[in-house]
Amino acid sequence: MTTSAQPSHASDAPSRSVADRRTVTSVCGFCSTGCGLDVVHSNDSSVPSIVPSLSYPVNAGAACCKGWEALQVTRSPDRGVAPLRRDGRRMVPISWSAAMQEFCTRFKQIQQRFGKESVAFLGTGQIATEEMVYLGALAKFGMGLVHGDGNTRQCMSSAATAYKESFGFDAPPYTYRDLECSDVIVLIGANLCVAHPIMWQHILRNRNSPRIVVVDPRRTETAMAATDHIALRPKSDLVLLYGIAHLLIAGGCVDERFVRDHTKGFGDFVRHVKDFAPSVVSERTGVSTEQLKRLARTIDEGGRVSFWWTMGVNQSYQGTRTAQAIINLALMTGNIGRPGTGANSITGQCNAMGSRLFSNTASLFCGRDFTNAEHRREVADALRIDVGRIPSEPSWPYHRIVENILRGRIRGLWIVGTNPAHSWINQNTFRDILGRLEFLVVQDMYPNTETATSADLYLPAAGWGEKEGTFINSERRIGRIRRVHSAPGEALSDFSIFRLVAESWGCGDLFRDWDSPESVFQAMRRLSQGRPCDISGIRNHDMIDMYQGIQWPLRRESEHATDRRLFEDGLFFHEDGRARFVFDQPREMPERPNRRFPLLLLTGRGSVAQWHTETRTSKSSILRRLAPKRLSVEIHPHDARREKIAPGDDVVVESQRGRIRARAFITPTVPAGSVFVAMHDRATNRLTHAHFDTHSHQPSYKDCAVRVRRIEPWDDV
Ligand code: SF4
Repeated sequence: MTTSAQPSHASDAPSRSVADRRTVTSVCGFCSTGCGLDVVHSNDSSVPSIVPSLSYPVNAGAACCKGWEALQVTRSPDRGVAPLRRDGRRMVPISWSAAMQEFCTRFKQIQQRFGKESVAFLGTGQIATEEMVYLGALAKFGMGLVHGDGNTRQCMSSAATAYKESFGFDAPPYTYRDLECSDVIVLIGANLCVAHPIMWQHILRNRNSPRIVVVDPRRTETAMAATDHIALRPKSDLVLLYGIAHLLIAGGCVDERFVRDHTKGFGDFVRHVKDFAPSVVSERTGVSTEQLKRLARTIDEGGRVSFWWTMGVNQSYQGTRTAQAIINLALMTGNIGRPGTGANSITGQCNAMGSRLFSNTASLFCGRDFTNAEHRREVADALRIDVGRIPSEPSWPYHRIVENILRGRIRGLWIVGTNPAHSWINQNTFRDILGRLEFLVVQDMYPNTETATSADLYLPAAGWGEKEGTFINSERRIGRIRRVHSAPGEALSDFSIFRLVAESWGCGDLFRDWDSPESVFQAMRRLSQGRPCDISGIRNHDMIDMYQGIQWPLRRESEHATDRRLFEDGLFFHEDGRARFVFDQPREMPERPNRRFPLLLLTGRGSVAQWHTETRTSKSSILRRLAPKRLSVEIHPHDARREKIAPGDDVVVESQRGRIRARAFITPTVPAGSVFVAMHDRATNRLTHAHFDTHSHQPSYKDCAVRVRRIEPWDDV
């Protein structure tokens, strides 16, 4: 091991040229919309302020409250300012050199005793793409790890898997302008008004007075603002979508030419959906046959129909097939590759799309396959490394990494920028699982997250505004993030931490050229060459600034245009150029409501002011004021009457796995027989049931059986 590794704060401090510039545009670090935020330095203040960028094509001067507070949340006094090592129950500050010594010695000892694959990593969709590239290459090619996955498994792996199987590559085809020129917009399991408010602004700019159809069991804020709300039974979306396909086929509403020229498998699909007649679908979904027919007619008569989905679809035990049922509707009606159309998944985290292409976790860089020798050769050539360094087996997905900690096959874990002790499904077992590790390293902005407090070694990381790089948003737009001030204390950018690890581990030579995010971006260009996500036409970071974000692919600079959607030529990424119809029989819900637990728990975003585990949003006094003060459970009036629960009562929500205290919020917006709890509270995942989509391995957060009963405020839970 090289012991001379020293932290380089020089690369993490704002450079004079950056700090002197009065305004820089940086893409927001919360959600995947990817708004441009102008960070303004004024003469009379050393503290920069934020104004949504007027000229940035994504948001045109708008931002939600999280974007306005993006810098504020980094200024909290509980930021990590030095590495910390566990000493019994205490965490003791140590130097970076000592931290690196500890990191390498402990992980290497575990690898020597139990094999290289006994150490794994869990990454995030919250760091810059260049940092993801570094982490993925360092862990797998430098440290010899086999298993590593990202927290993006929790939010959009069903969409990624669906696209790969249907289109031949994980490729959301749209551009946000499609929201502005659709005649019909179908939103399935997506509450844009709360989760993606700036995308909702794009819909408001649509001059076609579009029909907006929301398919959601809850009467969400978006459903209230829509023209049509299809309030189907929870988890009956796959049946409903097959039923709509059945009606479109029966009504002769298929784009025969498109299906013939550009797809494969339609005949089998027609036979499959024969069983989904309106009466059957109505019985299973709770949607009347009239509503089903109206939706089919709306899709048929809409000239430009776009379909959008997010976590309501993805976070399901059959999320992949449901996403593909949406894709099938777009394909069979020819609603793809034209303005205002598309089968469009909306991502969650600011750089989940970067993670899908460049994290080198479940798939080899740029959608390649670890088991494919040719793919390994391409990556070795692009990175100029020995091909023998690239594992020939794929990583376990997140839940199998977790299972294998329990089985003792994973003994060391490095967690970067995520908080699974809050967010992973079924919390009761997860804390126990972390406790079984011999060595847990957590790299994060804060040392006091639910996960970091379990760490043996904590590494303090810089946050948004404190480092350079790129994010990729939901519409495939690569945008810059900028360093506008220094991280506190000795915190370093994730990029600098990875460089330190590489040097300390003894594999720094592999990454000798990677001395800046810009240099890794050049490696990304090479890695992407010849792939559907080819960005070799993007010269450098400055070019991204010049065009205010660039959508992939861009093979040649001359191809650039402001908004580019995929499949305008009708060619998909399968070898024969054809998209596939993929389908399956709907599955039974694994844990149905029953006599003891008669209600179904739905979870989701609570308010615009909250972000995931609230690690950051809880640091802003403004965002705290905009968020609910207490955890509420939304209960339908019928269920509340039966349980003798009044508005504002203290209640306990119980599943087979745990119980939580909440305040009763009685509302008909949640369907009878279901309750809704926001995902942000650390208690919510004490209830959830650890089950997964069989294709994408994404957790199914939105269905488990619970009961609710009234308690007195002084009762223990
Ligand atoms: Fe940031 Fe998303 Fe809000 Fe835009 S909508 S400001 S990207 S959190």
